[in-house]
Amino acid sequence: MKPTSKVNRDFASLSPAVQRGSTVVFDSIADFVNRADRQPDGYNYGVTGTPTARLLEDRIALLEGGRHCVVAPSGAAALMTVLMSFVRGGDHLLLSAASYGALKSFGQNWLAHMGVQVEQYDPAIGAQIEAQILPNTRMICIEAPGSITMEMSDAPAIAHVARRHGVLTMMDNTWASPLGFQPLAHGVDFSVEAATKFFGGHSDVLMGTISMNDAGHYAAVRETQNTLGQQVSPDDCFLVLRGLETLSLRVRAQSEATLRIAEWLQGQPQVDRLLYPPLPFDAGHAVWKRNFTTNGCLFSMLLKPGPDAAFHSFFNTLSQFAIGASWGGVHSLAAFYPAAMQAARDWPATDQPVVRLSIGLDDVDVLKDDLRAALRAYQQQAG
Ligand SMILES: *Cc1c(COP(=O)(O)O)cnc(C)c1O
Repeated sequence: MKPTSKVNRDFASLSPAVQRGSTVVFDSIADFVNRADRQPDGYNYGVTGTPTARLLEDRIALLEGGRHCVVAPSGAAALMTVLMSFVRGGDHLLLSAASYGALKSFGQNWLAHMGVQVEQYDPAIGAQIEAQILPNTRMICIEAPGSITMEMSDAPAIAHVARRHGVLTMMDNTWASPLGFQPLAHGVDFSVEAATKFFGGHSDVLMGTISMNDAGHYAAVRETQNTLGQQVSPDDCFLVLRGLETLSLRVRAQSEATLRIAEWLQGQPQVDRLLYPPLPFDAGHAVWKRNFTTNGCLFSMLLKPGPDAAFHSFFNTLSQFAIGASWGGVHSLAAFYPAAMQAARDWPATDQPVVRLSIGLDDVDVLKDDLRAALRAYQQQAG
């Protein structure tokens, strides 16, 4: 039976349609034979996308100040899709030492075994990255602030040097979101977001987005997305489209609350140091202040040294913060990263365990009370 579109003719809604399909069908055999001509924007099979995905991609491209966007099933998938689109055996790839863990693993445990020369750089290196660029350098991956330890990288400076050498740049911009920083406006080729975090905003969906300006890059990323079978369900696209409706309100509220909590924590006796560029004493403050317009909702802290038992007491005392990885949603979260993880890194930011907090839409005073109680419990074990 052939499909009909008559049933939807007079229905108009403020809500986007969720359109499903494992395949698409064609009016004629000629259309079918030439179906590949519909790429990179059109639909020729389920994996090439749905109108629900295209609507989301258009909205995100607009937010990023870019011409094109491709969605992927997770933030991790988005990062890897960019690498698989452009990096080949024989190429040299530069990764920030503070990169998201799965990106580093993919470089070191997969690409390095496929003949890619994978090297890390000091996240604070800035324009001096030039000294690490080789004739075969293909791409530099930037993340600012870096995962867990929050080092600021000077993305505009790195992108500027990369362009001069004909090297591509990809930035993981999840911390700031395009409301806080627009990588593409600063010369970065690919802005990647874990839409799982701020865009979705409610801890109920995994997604990633890749935004860019260059039409050739877009065609390559779309082809890779299809070839790797990286399709995103229209239901998930709907959730992120809905999340975007409140994005600016959430980002603003969480950004303000996060700075207030961080400033307060700085003065607590059990706290050694916050890793958070919006604070004036952070090593990355000047770079943050020059380019970023929001405080994010995520920071890390180092406590005065204490045994494992003290950290256990801290986390077990929290009742408003759920314990868990991920961040950026309306619920506040706390995560723990042992000292050994930092020790194993190049350019480690610290040799101490890291406590990371994501501030949601909870009441700031309630969160402070919760943290105050947890810090007191820590103190009792730390002595
Ligand atoms: C969470 C996160 C990712 C990965 O996103 P997923 O959707 O969980 O795969 C990538 N980069 C950063 C900075 C993140 O925080």
